[in-house]
Amino acid sequence: MPLSPGEITLRDELRGDVQTLAGEIGERNMARYPQLNAAADFIENSFSRSGLQSRRDTYELGRRACHNIEVEIRGARPEILLIAAHYDSVFGSPGANDNGSGVAAILALARRFAGKPTEHTLRFVAFVNEEPPYFQTSQMGSFVYASRCKARGDQISAMISLETIGYFSDAPRSQTYPAVGLGTFYPTTGNFIGFVANVHSRRLLRRAIGFFRKDARLPSEGAALPSFIPGVAWSDQWSFWRHGYRGIMITDTALFRYPHYHASTDTPDKLDYDRFALVVSGMEKVIEKLDAASP
Ligand SMILES: [Zn+2]
Repeated sequence: MPLSPGEITLRDELRGDVQTLAGEIGERNMARYPQLNAAADFIENSFSRSGLQSRRDTYELGRRACHNIEVEIRGARPEILLIAAHYDSVFGSPGANDNGSGVAAILALARRFAGKPTEHTLRFVAFVNEEPPYFQTSQMGSFVYASRCKARGDQISAMISLETIGYFSDAPRSQTYPAVGLGTFYPTTGNFIGFVANVHSRRLLRRAIGFFRKDARLPSEGAALPSFIPGVAWSDQWSFWRHGYRGIMITDTALFRYPHYHASTDTPDKLDYDRFALVVSGMEKVIEKLDAASP
């Protein structure tokens, strides 16, 4: 399926930003602290080139400052749609797909929503320290952020976590599954984008995937599952679930498909930028429709 001119522009933006994050900055985490900060600066500069003023939500780990980075686009209503991706990479990996892809996506989406009137307030957030040893601990960037949201009483009606969204394969049996049984119902070819929720967020998942499929240019699969099933809670949506918010993860399923998951070979050349662009253009429509829908 040929890309439209708008999708080609989007694809080139995504490719450029993944190249900066994973090709130029490279591995970025607390062991590569200057690179982690270089990524934070890059994200802030990108937001500001879109005309958006970013805010650093900072906490300390071992006397070093860690920054979640957010921009807010005020809507007619205080209820918030929050779209996020983690910008750290796992030790030993440049993190092109995990999660340069998610960060490039939120930068591209923020660019497109900047200056547009919306019903909901939109927030685009880049989280620090998603990967081990912070993963699913109170030191995870998104956990710190979500607990501050809860303390302030922020009304977040939906959190969307963009987690490893750029790899696709048409090879037979390129898709595996974490849970015995699930593979019986879902495709075994890794050419779709996945929507994942906990049980509490199943209505949000159904709406989001329904909106995605209205203009579907790419196959999609959705599952609302108990969060103990391996893979379901494996990103920043976990932090929001833990604070009672509804959230979903959009993912190419990462380790269940991507041969370079958490490896030194997770480099920008491994991504399928055409299909990656279709995911992001589809998510732009999902956000527009979730924004317009009644709460
Ligand atoms: Zn990740």
